[in-house]
Amino acid sequence: MLNNYEKNIYLDYNATAPLRPAANALMNELLGRPLNASAVHGPGREGRKHIEAARQKLADLCGVTPGQVVFNSGATEANNTVLKYFAEKPVLISAIEHPCVLESAPHAARIPVTAGGVVDLQKLEDLLKAEKPALVSVMAVNNESGVIQPLSEISALCKKYGALLHCDAVQAVGRIPIGLTELGADFLSVSSHKIGGPQGVGALVLGLCGMTPVLLHGGGQERQARAGTENVAGIAGFGAALDALGNDKPEQLETWRDKLESGLQQASPETIIHCQDAPRVCNTSFFSLPGVNSETVLMGLDLENIAVSNGSACSSGKVKASHVLKAMGHDDAVAGSAIRVSLGWDTKESDIDAFLQIWSKLYDRIKRRMDKQTA
Ligand code: PLP
Repeated sequence: MLNNYEKNIYLDYNATAPLRPAANALMNELLGRPLNASAVHGPGREGRKHIEAARQKLADLCGVTPGQVVFNSGATEANNTVLKYFAEKPVLISAIEHPCVLESAPHAARIPVTAGGVVDLQKLEDLLKAEKPALVSVMAVNNESGVIQPLSEISALCKKYGALLHCDAVQAVGRIPIGLTELGADFLSVSSHKIGGPQGVGALVLGLCGMTPVLLHGGGQERQARAGTENVAGIAGFGAALDALGNDKPEQLETWRDKLESGLQQASPETIIHCQDAPRVCNTSFFSLPGVNSETVLMGLDLENIAVSNGSACSSGKVKASHVLKAMGHDDAVAGSAIRVSLGWDTKESDIDAFLQIWSKLYDRIKRRMDKQTA
């Protein structure tokens, strides 16, 4: 019998990607072994070897030394680690950050974004002058819109005003270069499951500012930076997913994403496609059918085995209006009707064709219902 993933047209990679076969195989091989990487015995040393191999891969991707990589349970932990470390200091965060940044720095001043979904550099400079923050936190790529943020300009401004820069690079890995120097960041958060590694694994990459924010204390693991027995199989799976990034075809995804957007505009002309003119990653399409609740559309698509999201579903599964679209100045009719389609390593062109076919059917049904209501 097919499982739900096999039955579905899965187009929700920005939420989580299916596990890559190489990561799956390596993890299956390791899961049954007692690999406590802190132990000096043989199985311990084997665990250590897998962790250090993955560390080297992530360090290479970020252009840092392996000692600057701290493995943890994911980007939520990495983001909390940095923001809680600066809890007593003035901090600026962009208004479109992921909730795990927004909620771990509730008192931080918010940097507005433009109508195109990009951090407003003039407003950032005004805030840097007024607030004199110790830390600025801006993501590399927004998880809902796919918009690439101008990190090198942001970093230059942070340097000018003496602030450190934290960057949530979760949605950037494998899509744009994430060298710490290119981004100009002092702290970088990454997550394994967004690139086809396992869930529950990620890392905080440290710059050369000399600060090591620590959230979990006690065991001395990760050079005292993150206590707790390491998730050896998970970290090894993360490493295998990093390796597999080289097989991805971003140009292909971009072509299919564009095909999806022109198909959408043809089938449902009132669809607003967000941030089409902004610099965007290749795999994300974010759009609204104004006045039509996201939840209705998501449920309609789910009944046809199409898995997409509105980009901001919280852990309770409740569909909320997009805070990203609100920050861009959209009203509730638009922010409450957002749909995100995100592609990835296992996407096929036939998935896009199937999506468009179902979309047309669903749209006709919704339109007929709305026309009846207004008649
Ligand atoms: N930051 C961004 C931009 C995300 O998209 C996500 C995942 O939804 C996270 C952080 C949280 O990552 P994790 O699931 O690894 O905790």
